[in-house]
Amino acid sequence: MDSGKKIYTVDTPPPYMSGPMHVGQVTHYTQIDTIARYKRMRGFEVNFPLGIDRNGLPVEVRVEKDLKISMRATPRAEFLELCKNRLNEDEKIVIDAFKRLGIAFNTYEDKGSYRTDSPRFRAVTQATFIDIWNKGLVYPDARPNNWCFDCGTTIADAEVEYSERPTTLNYLHFEVEGLNPIKIATTRPELLCACGAVFVHPDDERYTTYHGKTAKVPIFDLEVPIIASPSAQMEFGTGALMVCSYGDQNDVMAFRDHALAPIPAVSPDGTMNEAAGEYSGMKIGDARKAVLEELKKRNLLDKQEQSIQRVPLCWRSGTPIEFIAMDEYYVKQVQFIDELLKIANETTFYPSFHRQILIDWLNRVSVDWPVSRRRYYGTEIPIWYCNSCGEASVPELDGEPKYYQPWREDPPFTKCPKCGKEEGFTGEERTFDTWMDSSTSALQAVGYLRDDKLFKKAFGNILRPQGKDIVRTWLYYSLLRTLQLTGKPAFNEIWVSGHVVDENGEAMSKSKGNSPPPMPFVEKYGADAMRMFGALEAGLGSDVRFSEDRLAGVSKFMTKLWNVGRFVSMFPIPNGLKFEKLTLVDQWILAEVNKMVERIVPDCDMLDFHKPAIEIRGFTWNLFADHVLEMIKGRAFNTDEKFSKDEQESAWFTLHEVLNTITRALAPITPYITDKIYRELYDEKGIHRQEYPTVNKEWKSSLTEHTELLVQTNSAFWKFKRETGLSLRQGLPEAFISENLQPWMKDLQAMHGVERISFGEPKDDKFVEVKLPESEGSIYILPPAVEPE
Ligand SMILES: [Zn+2]
Ligand SMILES: [Zn+2]
Repeated sequence: MDSGKKIYTVDTPPPYMSGPMHVGQVTHYTQIDTIARYKRMRGFEVNFPLGIDRNGLPVEVRVEKDLKISMRATPRAEFLELCKNRLNEDEKIVIDAFKRLGIAFNTYEDKGSYRTDSPRFRAVTQATFIDIWNKGLVYPDARPNNWCFDCGTTIADAEVEYSERPTTLNYLHFEVEGLNPIKIATTRPELLCACGAVFVHPDDERYTTYHGKTAKVPIFDLEVPIIASPSAQMEFGTGALMVCSYGDQNDVMAFRDHALAPIPAVSPDGTMNEAAGEYSGMKIGDARKAVLEELKKRNLLDKQEQSIQRVPLCWRSGTPIEFIAMDEYYVKQVQFIDELLKIANETTFYPSFHRQILIDWLNRVSVDWPVSRRRYYGTEIPIWYCNSCGEASVPELDGEPKYYQPWREDPPFTKCPKCGKEEGFTGEERTFDTWMDSSTSALQAVGYLRDDKLFKKAFGNILRPQGKDIVRTWLYYSLLRTLQLTGKPAFNEIWVSGHVVDENGEAMSKSKGNSPPPMPFVEKYGADAMRMFGALEAGLGSDVRFSEDRLAGVSKFMTKLWNVGRFVSMFPIPNGLKFEKLTLVDQWILAEVNKMVERIVPDCDMLDFHKPAIEIRGFTWNLFADHVLEMIKGRAFNTDEKFSKDEQESAWFTLHEVLNTITRALAPITPYITDKIYRELYDEKGIHRQEYPTVNKEWKSSLTEHTELLVQTNSAFWKFKRETGLSLRQGLPEAFISENLQPWMKDLQAMHGVERISFGEPKDDKFVEVKLPESEGSIYILPPAVEPE
């Protein structure tokens, strides 16, 4: 990072280690690598660290499953070691895949790269926490929150996903003294024991007489108030709503708003607690069945109805979440939303329409972020509690950040700041939500708290590339934390890609059997083809449909490019010829390549390589290989010396200029083949230290307006020969073509073996008219005399 060039940091998404990569990850990382390579060729010092995300639940679950052990029944230090070993194995596979794919991270060694579970990374995560703790942005609370039984921990709203599922709506009735029973529809009859109220809409005339009365909860004999509240929906079920602690987020708010006393009925392990009476100890689902049986027996169940429900699920384990009140630490986030909205609007998004995902999320954030997790394999929360007064204390921030493990270490202080006693401390056992770690990746990539010089130089020019599925988590938390820590926006550019889906547009998944392992494709078709495929198949932000047939087609283009390179390499490279000394045809070719560069650079600058890939492939294959090479090879070889030495050298120079430009234009997308060609022909330092092609103002030619006519004319010659059974090499005595093609005359004569080319239309009716395949106009060919047998 000392080259003096401006530093451009690519805040690589650290892949989570969970076995081999899938097709989507391969495409995602090669697309990001294309950006890094492009920026390097545009003169930036590119800081592209390899990050590996290793914290969190999935490895714990894999270790528990594979070794048939339980995390909480294993000594903590031992369990951590088992996780680490497992991660090291998985990491090797992923790093090998990265290398094979040509992902050019800064380095694959420890320096410049990071693992989120390394003491160095965790030390910075902890230091950032201590910083916001000191700023008063962290507080403990026991509010009900999303709880996942499988993960055994509280999770944040950002980690909750919703799924539509069939459910049963049960109609039952609550007795009301002096009135008809009030009918209720519920999907959670097992929570009757936790019922705190019945809500009816204030405008619902069916229930006006019930306002202020009490209802008797069936089976459990609780008396609960009937409250008029706009949160009851008149058109849902019977219009009367059972409010329990806690069926969903609405219940949480209802209890809070009406100061109702909650009756927690579900334990953190997913069973009913003593509040459920004879159902206590049962799993939620079993209790639901048993309560329904009892309702039927007592004739309290009026009817059942199938319905579709939006169920909140844990992002990682897919488990339906419950609302359970546990003591957790919260990071204040609600107060930052306005400022984050401003940042969201002011930061450049590629493509800009994905900005909306972030804005929608920001508008939904309504509670603070619970950050403590009851897991082992994560960064420890650096807090100790005074054994005398219970006061929570964090270490001082002083010099190089240090890594703390409070569950097994004494604190770096001896005296309680509150009571002043020295009676020892008890270490916090919980770890952080893993987004607390990964949200510091950008800061850590530019040396935050570790390398002030680098930080001053590099912070402020960071690109965040990522998938759209983690906008509300990784992107949001990174923006929030960077704002809290530095008061500034984290990124100046945010690049959000789509997903890779199967040929039919369906999400790929191992269980559906439509997610083949990618590396065998890479072995079969090559890393360049795989990378080119990812660029060709979809515009930035849209989903890529994976298809082996299309990948195979892309590999044919790579072969074509190689053959073009081999052909051009047969000719020497003349020393820099002046443009105006070149033949008109060669000036035309260079003007065409110039136009291609002009079309691709603006998209590349928007970090979208989709159209550029199409343009470069089209130019290379459809114009350069099919027409230009065929046309000027006669002049380049000049075997029968029909051309002058200058004309021949002009051809050599032009062929190399075009190949040089194409390879540099493609280098960020297909680094292997372009580097191989470039190293052998042009510079042994390789292609990736070269500049990306830019528009050459000299390379202009009015002939480019006739390019299409030229292409059509060639096609007409080939068509004539094919249809009359002549070989493509067969000579022709004479042909008439458009006079606009006069500058190409000599090259066209050599290309099609025409002895004499004239312009306009022939008078002689021995000429055969051949219509141009895709435009108006014709050429006229005098067929060769048929040799008598
Ligand atoms: Zn879970
Ligand atoms: Zn104390």
